[in-house]
Amino acid sequence: MSTNSRKAELLANLERVRERIARAAAGRPAEPELIVVTKFFPASDVALLHDLGVRDVGENRDQEAAAKAAELAGRGLRWHFIGQLQTNKAKSVVQYADLLHSVDRPQLIQALRKAMAAEQQRRQAAGLEPRADLGCLIQVDLDESDLPKAAGTAARGGARPGEIRALADALQEAEGLAPAGLMAVAPLGADPARAFGRLAELSHRLKEEHPGAGMVSAGMSQDLEAAVAAGATHLRVGSDVLGPRPAVR
Ligand SMILES: *Cc1c(COP(=O)(O)O)cnc(C)c1O
Repeated sequence: MSTNSRKAELLANLERVRERIARAAAGRPAEPELIVVTKFFPASDVALLHDLGVRDVGENRDQEAAAKAAELAGRGLRWHFIGQLQTNKAKSVVQYADLLHSVDRPQLIQALRKAMAAEQQRRQAAGLEPRADLGCLIQVDLDESDLPKAAGTAARGGARPGEIRALADALQEAEGLAPAGLMAVAPLGADPARAFGRLAELSHRLKEEHPGAGMVSAGMSQDLEAAVAAGATHLRVGSDVLGPRPAVR
């Protein structure tokens, strides 16, 4: 496909998604921010999206994200890391991520704290400005069934609701990190309105202790309307903007 026709396609898709968001947000105090999830798609698509006014992009694999962020450095894109993160990737992610949506365990917070300290030292040694604190969202597992998880669903991860408070406190304590809010994926087979309503309640409770942690990252291509209705502040939309992803990597 030529660059121009790909750009026209992305524009048409973006307009459709923005209309859906506007319609869903009608009468609400604020319209949520759109994060376009560009995983699996080339940096050239991210560049076209940037031309079309997109500034927030989401990625879920460190290697792929790092390469795209390096290729598109200097454009003022904000990189949201939305995937499960292994502790050994923390050092890489803090070099390019503006926000991390997937904190789910204390060990990851410790790895990120150390990685941030090393990153600030690296920047200082290179004569660069220090980076801003890394805003971290706690990913919440909203699955209410007590059944053992089927293969594949457990990989979605997330902390249990009862673990949010301790994780937020740990983020607050950790130099270089800051609790920014909550993120969730609606559980497979669950009613997204109910799941996102639960997330909104958890967010209210979190903000009582951590008023700065007001982000609610919820809603994807299929369920963005339910997320907007429940008060999401950030939507993560991939396939309805970029098209279907290849089935295998
Ligand atoms: C891929 C992904 C999305 C985007 O999903 P679409 O259905 O393509 O809109 C959102 N959130 C997370 C965590 C993802 O991994």
